[in-house]
Amino acid sequence: MNAKVLYETFSRAPLAFERGEGCWLITGDGARYLDFAGGIAVNSLGHSHPHLVAALTEQAAKLWHVSNLYQVPGQERLGERLVENSFADRVFFTNSGAEALECAIKTARRYHYVNGNPEKFRIITFEGAFHGRTLATIAAGGQAKYLEGFGPKVDGFDQVPFGDVEAARAAITPETAAILIEPLQGEGGIRELPQGGLAALRQLCDEHGLLLILDEVQCGVGRTGKLFAYQWTDIEPDIVAIAKGIGGGFPMGACLATEAAAVGMTPGTHGTTFGGNPLAMAVGNAVLDVVLEPGFLDDVARKGLLLKQRLASVADEFPDVIEGIRGSGLMAGLKCRMPNTTVNMALRDEKLLAVPAGDNVVRLLPPLNVSDEEIGIAVDRIRKAAQGLSAKH
Ligand SMILES: *Cc1c(COP(=O)(O)O)cnc(C)c1O
Repeated sequence: MNAKVLYETFSRAPLAFERGEGCWLITGDGARYLDFAGGIAVNSLGHSHPHLVAALTEQAAKLWHVSNLYQVPGQERLGERLVENSFADRVFFTNSGAEALECAIKTARRYHYVNGNPEKFRIITFEGAFHGRTLATIAAGGQAKYLEGFGPKVDGFDQVPFGDVEAARAAITPETAAILIEPLQGEGGIRELPQGGLAALRQLCDEHGLLLILDEVQCGVGRTGKLFAYQWTDIEPDIVAIAKGIGGGFPMGACLATEAAAVGMTPGTHGTTFGGNPLAMAVGNAVLDVVLEPGFLDDVARKGLLLKQRLASVADEFPDVIEGIRGSGLMAGLKCRMPNTTVNMALRDEKLLAVPAGDNVVRLLPPLNVSDEEIGIAVDRIRKAAQGLSAKH
């Protein structure tokens, strides 16, 4: 293999997997890793889920691609199911999370444009946010390390501290169009909004005629134990971006909006070649078949609590390694006392895969169909890694 041909933008682990079975990844020489990285919250139903494999192969034998010049029945079906189970009236399918956010940003700007307020185009975002790697979404995320060297930052994003409603209020100007936030920050370090935070932002938006956009690319599609993370609150957003988990490993995303918010997205205003292609739609529908089965999401919430409780006891045992546990459902974070990369590497040595995040956190994002037994194995491996790292041993 000649890795020199690839852009060196990723620092990759020296691991190559050949196949996957449920929560397990298997290398060419047969080593089995317990996958609590889940492709960064993408493999929502693990690897080689029989229902997803059947849906994809069945569709592959029929039709791969026709373009959005024609009707794609799978889009209508998946769109209807997302609408039935959310605040939304309209859906636009994309290939990725960043594109779902681009669509969300464009939808918000067009909303004000067609409502006679073309001056309203700015969006308030939050420190520690991650919204993708396109030029607009790195500007929205506002992280210097992702903006550096890529020319003038796309205009129109004003950043305030995470969850700081008063700072958001102070940042509103006559040009403000929307507020964009992850209900539960992923890359930022599994950071939760304070209780009542979303409701306060919703109220702020209502007072000022702004749209509330949620980035649920990581925390959506069942990850927290509800189909959407906002459904833990009483409020409804105007626009939501999803991706990652909805494809279960097939690249896809979607922008969901209310009828009112999507009013400006008229024929010709937006488009995509691959978005909503029949292969993606077959898999997205198959993911929902499983996630929407009665009891599935309640079980995610239950397993999330189980994981959190067990992790808390490991943190109690080794406070010099793990400072605390964060997160909701099967989106957990270990706040580390030592460098998170050291902890992540020690977990990998125990054949447990996890993902480092901001704020010195290691993320655990297991498949939503992980078993109690596998949660037990993961926690045992974390305990063993922590023991090895702890100064006391
Ligand atoms: C991953 C992620 C994105 C970007 O998704 P891509 O598919 O990589 O473009 C956007 N927002 C959040 C919250 C994410 O976790």
